[in-house]
Amino acid sequence: MAAARTNVFTEMTALAMRTGAINLGQGFPDEDGPSAVIDAAIEALRAGHNQYAPLPGVPALRDAVCAHQARRYGLEVDPETGVQVTFGATEAIASGLFALVGSGDEVLMLEPSFDAYAPIVERAGGRCAPVALSPPDWRLDPDALAAAVNHRTRVLLLNSPHNPTGRVLELSELEQLACVCIERDLIAITDEVYEHLVYDGHHTPLATIPGMAQRTLTVSSLGKTHSLTGWKVGWASGPPELVARVRAIKQFLTFAGGTPFQHAAAVAVARPDDEVAVLVGELRVKRDRLARGLGRLGFDVLPTAGTYFLNADASPVDHDDARELCLRLPEEAGVAAIPLSAFVAAPGDDRTRSIIRFAFCKREQVIEDALERLGAWLRE
Ligand code: PMP
Repeated sequence: MAAARTNVFTEMTALAMRTGAINLGQGFPDEDGPSAVIDAAIEALRAGHNQYAPLPGVPALRDAVCAHQARRYGLEVDPETGVQVTFGATEAIASGLFALVGSGDEVLMLEPSFDAYAPIVERAGGRCAPVALSPPDWRLDPDALAAAVNHRTRVLLLNSPHNPTGRVLELSELEQLACVCIERDLIAITDEVYEHLVYDGHHTPLATIPGMAQRTLTVSSLGKTHSLTGWKVGWASGPPELVARVRAIKQFLTFAGGTPFQHAAAVAVARPDDEVAVLVGELRVKRDRLARGLGRLGFDVLPTAGTYFLNADASPVDHDDARELCLRLPEEAGVAAIPLSAFVAAPGDDRTRSIIRFAFCKREQVIEDALERLGAWLRE
């Protein structure tokens, strides 16, 4: 049986709540998503959309997801057979992994990696095959990729824009990954929850690389793009054979629910792209404000092109152990953040040891207050 893991995010959020610290740990916005979308949820509740949704998801949301994939990326997806609505991206990823990973199968993933991946892969009976990215630029290293692949590799679980590094993979890196998938006959599951939160460069779905559409399950969700992380509406889209396998697992995990939120999500996904562009502009300002502030305090700030997250090396401010520092900060400085080592398998990993991940999806005043608190603590 896979060992139960403690979750550093909930641990840090609990610590932040207990100490009254500003929580720049867990990535959730402190402002609501668009009121038109919230109104749509209220209307859906009032309109009686309160029973089980169809297993694949409500038709309006499946249509909206297909229209989005076509409009934004030129990807053709069938709304009947090519989309499965899930409880957040997490359930789509878990269903995909449970469907595609068998005992002893290996799953390629960039490392550092989102904390949910390894426990799910292990629950499925598989093994993680990390492809190490290194700071400060976190580029895909072709040698590390080649070394991670072997005859047991079955799945590539790719996340770009990448949490926790903020890296947005470039076309050439995606092409290298596609090449491995095609050569080795791998299925790709792509976690694209930050697909629209890109501040520099742009996001290309792996499914758009030639030869990949037929072997890629593309996963996304409502939470980040529309600042509604608590609604947990997600989806997987792709070729019918793969979506059918996800559906077969999802059916006996949670079946179907969150019906009013699915209706409202259909409204959100169909909203004009300009609205998301405004959010991206605001987040870019917040990123820059936090980066400037941490830089002024003496941290070595790493570049971040997407997501909610900014990483900063604490060694220039005389803290080489980010984990130990993050455990002290809530109580002593009144700020919570996450050590980057929480996203790697090897606890003593040198690449991440002194790096802290800060979430910048917070009101500007909150970011300023956090910087002030950190400054005061460092001066003491
Ligand atoms: N993947 C990544 C990379 C994430 O950062 C998150 C949320 N922190 C998720 C998946 C989970 O998405 P959801 O809330 O839609 O399940």
